Amino acid sequence: MSQSGPSLQVLVVDDSPVYRELVSQALQGQDYSVTFAKNGREALELFAQTAPHIVITDWMMPDVSGLDLVQRIRGSELAYTYVILLTSISDKAMVVKGLAAGADDYLTKPFDPGEFCARIGVGRRIICLQRDIEAKNLLLQEAARTDSLTGLPNRRAIEEWAERQIRGASRHGYPLWVILADLDSFKSVNDNYGHDAGDLVLQKFAEVLRGTTRASDICGRMGGEEFVMVLTHVDQNGIFPTVDRLREQFASLVFRFGGNSASVTASFGIAGFQGREIAEFSQLLRRADEALYAAKRGGRNRVEVAVLQP
Ligand SMILES: [Mg+2]
Repeated sequence: MSQSGPSLQVLVVDDSPVYRELVSQALQGQDYSVTFAKNGREALELFAQTAPHIVITDWMMPDVSGLDLVQRIRGSELAYTYVILLTSISDKAMVVKGLAAGADDYLTKPFDPGEFCARIGVGRRIICLQRDIEAKNLLLQEAARTDSLTGLPNRRAIEEWAERQIRGASRHGYPLWVILADLDSFKSVNDNYGHDAGDLVLQKFAEVLRGTTRASDICGRMGGEEFVMVLTHVDQNGIFPTVDRLREQFASLVFRFGGNSASVTASFGIAGFQGREIAEFSQLLRRADEALYAAKRGGRNRVEVAVLQP
C-alpha cells in the first residue's frame, strides 16, 4: 500500500491533556485517522473497538501503564499494531524494558514534531509491509487449496471441508453422500485430440459439477480425471436421480476438436451415511470408489450407489 491508500488508524494514549494536544497538532494535516484515550482503560476499550494500526502511548499513567498496555496489545489476536512509547523516562534501562515488552520504538518527551512524524512514518511503512504479506499469504493459502486447471477445490481442501460436514451430519442426523466421478476413456481424448482438448473436457466437467452444486455442498478435483462431490440433505431416494441428471447433462455435451465432434461420458460411484456415528471420510471415499468400479465394469456412463451406511 502507498501513501495514497486508506488512512491509517492511530490511537494516542496520554493522561496529560497538554501532550494529547501536542500530538494532535503534530499529526494535523496528515493522512491519519486519530482517536485519543485519556488513560489505559479507555485505551484498551478503544483498541478493541477500532483495531488501530499504530498506537502512541504515554508510559506513566494512573491506571494501566504504557508498559502494561504494550503487553496487552502484544497478547491480542488482532493484526500487528505498531507501538511507539512516548515517555519522559530517558533512563536507558527503562527504554530497553519497554522495547523488550513489545514496543517498536520510543520517543522521549518533550519531542520534536518533525522527528515524531518521521517515526510514525516508519510505523506506517512497517504496517503497509505487514498488510502486503498478509494479503499474499491469503492468496497462497487459497492457491494451495485450488486446482489450477479447473479452479475447483483440490483434494486437500475437500478433505478438510468434508471432515467438518461429516461432523455436522452426524450431529444433526442428516444424510451425507460422497460421489466419486471418473471420466470414461479419458486417455483416448488426450491421445486422439491432444492435451488441450483433454484440459477443455476437464474444465467443462468442472463447470457442470459446479452448476449442480448448491452452496451447502462442495465439488472438487481429486486429481487426473477424477472428481468428487459431497452432498448433504438429499435423501436415499433422491440421490440417484440427482447424480444421474448430472451424468446425462455431461454426456449430452458435444465437443468440437479440430474438425471432429465428440462426446465424453463419466461414471459415478456413490456412498453415503446417515446416523450419529461419525463416519470416516476416507472410508466413504473407499466405498464410493468400489461403487465407481462397479459402474465402470457395468459398461461406463453409469451411476452406482453403495448401500447407505447406518
Ligand atoms: Mg503520563
